[in-house]
Amino acid sequence: MRLGIISALAEEQHGLIEALQSPYKHVHGMREYTTGKLWEIDAVCVLSRIGKVAASMTAAILVEKFGVTHIVFTGVAGSGDKNVKVGDIVVADTLIQHDFDASPLFPRFEIPLTGLSSFATDVALTAKLADAAGQVTRVHRGLIASGDQFIGKLAQIQALKASLPDLLAVEMEGAAVAQVCFELGIPFAVIRTISDNANDDAAVDFMHFIKTVASRYAFDVIRNFCKTSRANP
Ligand code: SAH
Repeated sequence: MRLGIISALAEEQHGLIEALQSPYKHVHGMREYTTGKLWEIDAVCVLSRIGKVAASMTAAILVEKFGVTHIVFTGVAGSGDKNVKVGDIVVADTLIQHDFDASPLFPRFEIPLTGLSSFATDVALTAKLADAAGQVTRVHRGLIASGDQFIGKLAQIQALKASLPDLLAVEMEGAAVAQVCFELGIPFAVIRTISDNANDDAAVDFMHFIKTVASRYAFDVIRNFCKTSRANP
């Protein structure tokens, strides 16, 4: 396994670069890709920057230039369900691009020529990550929706939830990585710590949370994941 680990923000990657053994930094396309060993797993860590295009480019380059065989996205997200609380973790089973709408030519959310409106994560990788996350905090599994918007208004999250009743979390990159990995045939998983409730308080909650808990959680989950992957490849 050569594991690509993508985060959008520096806080989400906190500690991982320092944990890499024999780190080597490659700069390409305005990103820093750091290769090395993470608890004996061959890994490449990178900050994608924010949004679907940024995440797509980063995922494709991880595969095509750095030869990763698996991708994990780790970051924060807004809650999309009343049972999903700040500090919980959502591990995606499926992802949707909530701002994709080519109707009436294609059904809303469907990605033209794939016949799909949601992309499923790799079952084995997702199960291992959910186990790793369960040692850190409360875990939910299900639908994550991504779009090029910070959802920070109650009316926005309510409208999204009305269209996607199974929604657990909203963010800005996961479904883009999902489409790239689907098209390139790369197993992937997405794990998000809830930083805010995607409502009118979201911006303030997000800023507070990202500086405190988010970084610690991402680090602990990846460490647990690498240690079990090493034992049971
Ligand atoms: N001002 C911030 C902007 C971050 S955008 C900064 O420059 O650091 C929010 C990031 O966190 C995105 O990467 C997104 O994936 C995730 N996120 C967290 N809460 C979100 C929400 N309510 N809506 C959309 N994305 C959210």
